[in-house]
Amino acid sequence: MGFPRPSLACAPISSDKMDRLIFHIDVNSAFLSWESARRVKKGESDLRLVPSAVGGDRDRRTGVILAKSIPAKKYGVSTGEPVSMALRKCPELVIVKPDFRLYAQCSKKFLAICRKYAPVVEQFSIDECFLDMSGTSRIYPDPVAIAHTIKDEIRDRLGFTVNVGIGPNKLLAKMASDFEKPDKVHTLFFDELEEKFYPLPVRDLFTVGRSTAKLLDRINVHTIGELASLDQKALDIIVGGKFAKHLYLVSHGLDDSPVLAERPEAKGYSNSITLEEDVTTAEEAEQVLLLLSDSVATRLRADSVRAWCVSVVLRSTDFTDRSKQMRLDTPTDNTDEVFDKVKKLFLELWDGEDPIRLFGVAAFDVTKEEGQLSFFDDPKKEKSRDVDEVVDSIRERFGMDTIIRGSICKSPVVPGGRHLRHSTKADGEEKNKKQ
Ligand SMILES: [Mg+2]
Repeated sequence: MGFPRPSLACAPISSDKMDRLIFHIDVNSAFLSWESARRVKKGESDLRLVPSAVGGDRDRRTGVILAKSIPAKKYGVSTGEPVSMALRKCPELVIVKPDFRLYAQCSKKFLAICRKYAPVVEQFSIDECFLDMSGTSRIYPDPVAIAHTIKDEIRDRLGFTVNVGIGPNKLLAKMASDFEKPDKVHTLFFDELEEKFYPLPVRDLFTVGRSTAKLLDRINVHTIGELASLDQKALDIIVGGKFAKHLYLVSHGLDDSPVLAERPEAKGYSNSITLEEDVTTAEEAEQVLLLLSDSVATRLRADSVRAWCVSVVLRSTDFTDRSKQMRLDTPTDNTDEVFDKVKKLFLELWDGEDPIRLFGVAAFDVTKEEGQLSFFDDPKKEKSRDVDEVVDSIRERFGMDTIIRGSICKSPVVPGGRHLRHSTKADGEEKNKKQ
């Protein structure tokens, strides 16, 4: 279904897989870089060189930061934090609105370059992928050199930078790509763990959530090395069962999960957002889900397809995923309908307690078939489709960020859309009545 699922959990270790060679490629500040690259192409100034961010509304000081530039990071601005807080840290912060259609285009282009070099490419999220370079030593005798070639080609042709992490498995490749940024290549092989991996704070270990890090902190386990020195029995007492085994493996840099190329027939449309600031209320969660539903439905409409199934995934801070899917009576590409189902699934999934870190929405089992008949018996649906059409045509002409749905205007995630509010008002009002 294309969600960025970590497939690292409790994988068996086999020695014959130890000589694998995996690259993890991660776009630096993706949303912001992609917006900057577009602006630079048009001769505008480069957002990456100033404190800037993609996110909520600057004037109203609402919404959250979805991505930030490196100069903004120096002020302590972080992804997922409220715009109001970011502005307190950095009053001159430039904030631009997200444009998911642009992101989808950039993602496609950068993956296409990666696919030229690797036999197997797994898209991990909109701005990250794994390349299985195992067995390519004859064509590419020097992994670091070829990593530079890929990185430079992406930068020179597409105008944005990536980090490449090289390792013997997905876990270590991913950890390596997170070292110094931007535009860098790093390696993390088993003989480098002592120097580059064990001294890292335990919260930097992939799949260790903030709550687990806090728990470990309380028992004086601050670094990955300290975690690795615990035996499985001790871990069992601290975190219990499956997760203990998982922690044991990842703290030793062990991961046997394969790089999986997406099967083209399983094509779905999905989008997900990871927030560092956890979402704790249903209201906030629904606004994030509306944003995701809108971006997924917009892509369905752009490809002239409708989906029979909709699904939601939630990840809590301890990295447990919950997901649920639903089959529809008629296939849809309508934002309201997708959001309506997504909201239902969310309420079934969420107990109202666990803070949520990642939200994902997917639409799949797509068809070219028209679901017209059902629209005739419900005038509301027809109206909602008209709104989609108007929104799409304006976005087509003036860009994705010219129109933001009425309900999202009030969202902590993407408020704003002031300039064209009149044309989305009906949509917003109707949605509010339904809620
Ligand atoms: Mg990234």
